[in-house]
Amino acid sequence: MTPNVTAILVAAGRGARAGGGLAKQWRPLGARRMIDWTLAAFDRAADVTEVLVVLHPDDMALAGTLQAGKPLRCVAGGAERSASVANALAQVTDPEAIVLIHDAARPLVSDALIARVVAEVSRTGAAAPALPVVDALWTGAEDRVTGTRSREGLFRAQTPQGFRAGAIRAAHENATGSAADDVEIARAAGLPVAIVPGEEQNFKITYPQDFARAAALLEEADAMDIRTGNGYDVHRFGPGDAVILCGVEVPHDRALMGHSDADVGMHAVTDAIYGALGDGDIGQHFPPSDPQWKGAASEIFLRHAVGLAAERGYEITHMDCTLVCERPKIGPYHAVMKSKMAELMGLRPDHVSVKATTSERLGFTGREEGIAALATVTLVRS
Ligand code: MG
Repeated sequence: MTPNVTAILVAAGRGARAGGGLAKQWRPLGARRMIDWTLAAFDRAADVTEVLVVLHPDDMALAGTLQAGKPLRCVAGGAERSASVANALAQVTDPEAIVLIHDAARPLVSDALIARVVAEVSRTGAAAPALPVVDALWTGAEDRVTGTRSREGLFRAQTPQGFRAGAIRAAHENATGSAADDVEIARAAGLPVAIVPGEEQNFKITYPQDFARAAALLEEADAMDIRTGNGYDVHRFGPGDAVILCGVEVPHDRALMGHSDADVGMHAVTDAIYGALGDGDIGQHFPPSDPQWKGAASEIFLRHAVGLAAERGYEITHMDCTLVCERPKIGPYHAVMKSKMAELMGLRPDHVSVKATTSERLGFTGREEGIAALATVTLVRS
């Protein structure tokens, strides 16, 4: 079973080095505030179940301005970073849950990096991203180089730092003195921590000049997030007097066999949405082994995929579905299929296409053993 993954965003600092009056996490980075970008990164990450944001006690009134599709809670921080994290950890009741502790000032964290940390924590219990030091290292005093140091075995630490909730909570309870991060606290408690590859883009916004650089990267990534997913499905014919295709019952001398209502078109479209989200397939979300989906209307599956896209901040902008069969003839039904699919997906009819082709009597569709369907959907980050 996949464990719960709670992201803890540490946003309680005052960020003096970044200049400006307002704490840096609340300041604009292009179109949104820094904290909104960081929250959005964890909100869309497939592995994350819920988000806990640690705010400065003076900022608790701003909690209502934060929005996420996933469960979101805000807790008040403490006097130091470690006290803030401890307050958040106290809210995670399942000791086996994975917690990802992340600086709100790293809004450019990628889905792939979050997934790497979660996978490694699942395997070994504790993991954090880091990059090897590539620059030469010097010591210096009074603007003069006084010596050199080997960079061998040195890393630049990043976040999210991932742990099992019970283990890191115990480490925080026994911690003495101040620590730079949670890896230091974990290691002081004897917890080994694996290193996973970090990312240059996942830098911590620290100085005033970092804001423009981060804003440019975020806007670019946001504008470019257009996704295409494909889906393919087949159902075999069996006894019956109608088939259901794209939500429409079409009289026929046979029916399609399947665990649900066997709507091959709607299944292909649903899989295309999951594909664009990079989140599994219909069989994963609705296991055929689960009796509750027996004979289920496929609308349930499609509505789930459409809802998931919205939850992750994506707008479905287009859908194209091709049904492959010799019979029944789709022509008389194609307009009603199109409007049914448009309605279910919240799309304008001119952004939806349902079409059909035969396979020239070749192959299993040509021999009328079953119907195949292909679908393509386009998603745009909204
Ligand atoms: Mg199917």
